Amino acid sequence: MISNFTCIRCGKKYEIGSIFNCECGGLLQVIHDNINFNKEFFDSGKFSSNYPYQSGVWRFKELIYPSLMVDNIITKSEGNTNIYNHKKINDYTDLIKISLKHEGENPTGSFKDRGMTVAISEAVRLNAKAVACASTGNTSASMAAYAAQAGLRAFVFIPEGEIAYGKLSQALAYGAKVIQIKGNFDDAMKLVQEASSKFGLYLVNSINPWRIEGQKTIIFELLQQRNWKVPDWIIVPAGNLGNTSAFGKALLELKKLNFISKLPHLASIQAENSSPFYNLYKNKEFKPIINPKTIASAIKIGSPVSWEKAINVIKETNGVVEKVSDDHIMDAKAEVDQCGIGCEPASAASVAGAQILRQKGIIDKKDDIVCILTGNILKDPDNTINYHMGLLKNIKPRLQNIPIIIDPKAIDIQHELKKIITLKG
Ligand SMILES: *Cc1c(COP(=O)(O)O)cnc(C)c1O
Ligand SMILES: [Zn+2]
Repeated sequence: MISNFTCIRCGKKYEIGSIFNCECGGLLQVIHDNINFNKEFFDSGKFSSNYPYQSGVWRFKELIYPSLMVDNIITKSEGNTNIYNHKKINDYTDLIKISLKHEGENPTGSFKDRGMTVAISEAVRLNAKAVACASTGNTSASMAAYAAQAGLRAFVFIPEGEIAYGKLSQALAYGAKVIQIKGNFDDAMKLVQEASSKFGLYLVNSINPWRIEGQKTIIFELLQQRNWKVPDWIIVPAGNLGNTSAFGKALLELKKLNFISKLPHLASIQAENSSPFYNLYKNKEFKPIINPKTIASAIKIGSPVSWEKAINVIKETNGVVEKVSDDHIMDAKAEVDQCGIGCEPASAASVAGAQILRQKGIIDKKDDIVCILTGNILKDPDNTINYHMGLLKNIKPRLQNIPIIIDPKAIDIQHELKKIITLKG
């Protein structure tokens, strides 16, 4: 066996399979034995047109799932996402070098696809009859799409009335059975774990170590795009902490393989009233939040599953955890949107976080910064529209853009245009 599951707490090893917790209760992670590749192997370009290596996930197959048969792979050519720079973002964050890697450009509109292609391929290998997840939205959209492609039944557990419409519509359209829980995400998560083990559904939440393997490729691809030049900071929105965990695992593995010679600092950004990880970082004690609140529904999580992996990552990268208000999140989102880049609310937490870390002097003006945008602007149209209409409670729409209504007369149009631009004639 080239890969095994190893407990992060006690080190006990298991054969890979549908098991997600050690006897001791610790989380499992995938460990690959004897991987020995150099970056030239991945840079040679010989893969780019060769299935499944055209995918930004499977290009790195040797580092995420070397023994998987290509026949089992369910892929939509994930990744290959753009990195953007824009002067507005430099000005907003008071940073000279800040770029945004847009994971909302993945096939179903969020980074979840990178983990999901691996988890669903594993479900195929295991001959699973059905897959399941709890979700704040994007995991369910992604799972539903990949499960449909694989011909697997899919069951989604979501908190009733709490997920953005773009995401719910995807899950329904792709044919997943949507089960609304009268409770929040944390209740749904507990229930799906119980239901999966009782009824033999294959669980594809980020507690599934294969999700983490796939999400490592955000870092692999980012660094490859930068010719393996390591930034000073990587900033990521943090909810269930799968991404924070994956980023740390990827960076440590790259360092061990000598692809990079130093580690960037990792900054995880939480929403102010959904910030159990921030509290853990500050108080050295993990306590779930019973009633998390934030407009950024993708990170509205009170009891993040991967906190133990994630806090190790913050320690190992000499990183930080920060929190930002909903008002700040929507303000940063409007900035990102008006650059023509665009993202969903949770994603903008990384940009708001960059601004706060700069203001606090934790980040230097000249530092080389990468923020991860986790989801697509189309995921949550309601909050975008309500922001511009000024309908969001406790949120000041500084960059408000209200539609106007006029009679269908040229003179009225001229009057409105004149307020904004100089007209000819
Ligand atoms: C899932 C998700 C997050 C949170 O990521 P975790 O790995 O759960 O911390 C952030 N933003 C978006 C858009 C997401 O879909
Ligand atoms: Zn253990």
